[in-house]
Amino acid sequence: MTLTATETPVTDLTVTPEPRLDAFAQLQLAEPLARAVAEMGYESMTPIQAQAIPVVLQGRDVMGAAQTGTGKTAAFSLPLLQRMLKHENSSTSPARHPVRALVLLPTRELADQVAQQVKLYAKYTNLRSAVVFGGIDMKPQTLELKKGVEVLVATPGRLLDHIEAKNAVLNQVEYVVLDEADRMLDIGFLPDLQRILSYLPKQRTTLLFSATFSSEIKRLASSYLQDPVTIEVARSNATASTVEQHFYSVPEDDKRRALHQILKSRGMKQAFVFVNSKLGCARLARSLEREGLKTTALHGDKSQDERLKALESFKGGEVDLLVCTDVAARGLDIKDVPAVFNFDVPFNAEDYVHRIGRTGRAGASGLAVSFVSAKDARLVADIEKLIKTKIELEAVEFDEDQPDIHKQGRINDGRRMYSPEREETVRRERASPRDYARPTQAARDPFFDKPYEASVAATDDVKPTWEPTVRAGGRSLSANIKSKRKVAALFTASST
Ligand code: AMP
Repeated sequence: MTLTATETPVTDLTVTPEPRLDAFAQLQLAEPLARAVAEMGYESMTPIQAQAIPVVLQGRDVMGAAQTGTGKTAAFSLPLLQRMLKHENSSTSPARHPVRALVLLPTRELADQVAQQVKLYAKYTNLRSAVVFGGIDMKPQTLELKKGVEVLVATPGRLLDHIEAKNAVLNQVEYVVLDEADRMLDIGFLPDLQRILSYLPKQRTTLLFSATFSSEIKRLASSYLQDPVTIEVARSNATASTVEQHFYSVPEDDKRRALHQILKSRGMKQAFVFVNSKLGCARLARSLEREGLKTTALHGDKSQDERLKALESFKGGEVDLLVCTDVAARGLDIKDVPAVFNFDVPFNAEDYVHRIGRTGRAGASGLAVSFVSAKDARLVADIEKLIKTKIELEAVEFDEDQPDIHKQGRINDGRRMYSPEREETVRRERASPRDYARPTQAARDPFFDKPYEASVAATDDVKPTWEPTVRAGGRSLSANIKSKRKVAALFTASST
C-alpha cells in the first residue's frame, strides 16, 4: 500500500538524524585536538581521514594511496598526536621531549607545509614539533632540535646531516610516516631512507603514503611495513574527476600564444604552468613577463627564500602565473588554483597526475590544459595508459587579435629568429594537428612496455634489492649498487 502525504501519521515524520559516519565527533579525539580541528573549520572527515584515522589509532601500519589535497596530513597527524598525548608534558628538559614521530617528505616546500599543519593540530597540546630541510642554515634548526621535539618533519638529506651532527637522536621514535614515498624514490632518496630507517627502533608504527602504488613502492612497503592495512581513497593513478582536462595540439612555437588565448577566453586570472626543465622554466617566465603577465618562476635552483617568496606572492594574488618544474611544485598546497597548464607534457606520466592535482582540489572544479607538440606522441600515450582514458587532441582556436608571437620573429625568448623553414614546419603542424601528434604503433616496441625485472639468477638472493645494508660511518651505498670489484669478478668468471 502506498501512503499519500495526508495519510502519513505525523509522528512518523519526526526522524532522529543518523549520526554522520564521517563526522570528527565519531573519533572521540582528545579535547585539545578536537578543538584544533574545530578551529580549522573542518566539518567532516575526508575519505582518507575516515579510513586511515581509526586504523592508525589502533596502532596498525598503513599503506595509503592518496594524493596531496585529499587531507592526508590530518589523516596521519591527528591519530599520531592522539597516541602521543600520553607522553605530553610541560617540562623544559629536552630529555622529556624526545623525537617520537618522524615524518619524511621529498621536498622543502612539502615539509614546510606539513609541519605548519602539524603545528596547528598540536596547538592546544604540549607536544612540540619542528621541521628540518636543506637549502637553509642548519643552526636555527639545531637549536630547535636541541630543545627537544616530539614530532620531527624532515627531508631525508638534511635529517641525515642532523643525525651525523648528533642534533637528532631517533632511538625513541615510535611512529614513522613516509609521505609522498613515490616521489622520494623518484628523486633517488632510497639510500637515505634506508639509512634513516636503520636508526629507528624496530618496534614502531610505519605509515607509507604514495600517490601511486608502483611495484617499487610495494617492495618498499614489504621491506619496512608490518602487515599494513591498505587504504586507497581513489583508484590508484586516478585523476580527480572534478578536473576538466584538455589536450591541445600546439606547435612548440605557438604554445605561449595558446596560453594567452586560453587564459583570455576562459577569463582566468591565475594558473600554474608546468615545464620540464629549470632552464625552460626561467626562460618561459621571463618571456611571459615581457608579454604582460605577472609571472614568477619556481624551480630547484631558486633558494628557499626565493621559493617561499614566489609562493607567497602567488597566494597573495600579486603574481598571476607560477611557472614551475615538477620537483619545485611537488606538494604545494595552494587551494583554488583555477587552472594548471602543462606547457611541456611531463616525461613521467605519473607527474601528469601530480601536476593536475593542484587544481580541482577538495571538491572545487578545475581546468588542466596540456600543450602537445609533435615530439610528445609517446608521452601522451603513456598518460593515456596511466589514467586509462582515451585522450582526444583538440586544436586551439586563436582570436584574430591574439598576437602571433611566432610571426614577431622572436621565438623562445629571442634565442631563435624567424626563418622561412621554421615557418613551414609550424604551418604543417598547424594544418594537421591530429595526424602528427598521434602515437604511431610501429614506433612502439612492446619490450619497452614491460617493467624491468632482474632475473633470479642475477640476484644474490630473493630479498628486495634495497633490503637495508647499512655500512658503519659515512653515507652508505644503496644495496642495489654493486661494488666495482664485484663487476670485475664477473668479467673474470665469464672469461674463464
Ligand atoms: P593535505 O592533503 O593534507 O595537503 O590537505 C589539503 C588541504 O585540505 C589542507 O589545506 C587542509 O587544511 C584541508 N583539509 C584537510 N582535512 C580537511 C577536512 N576534513 N575538511 C576540510 N578541509 C580539510
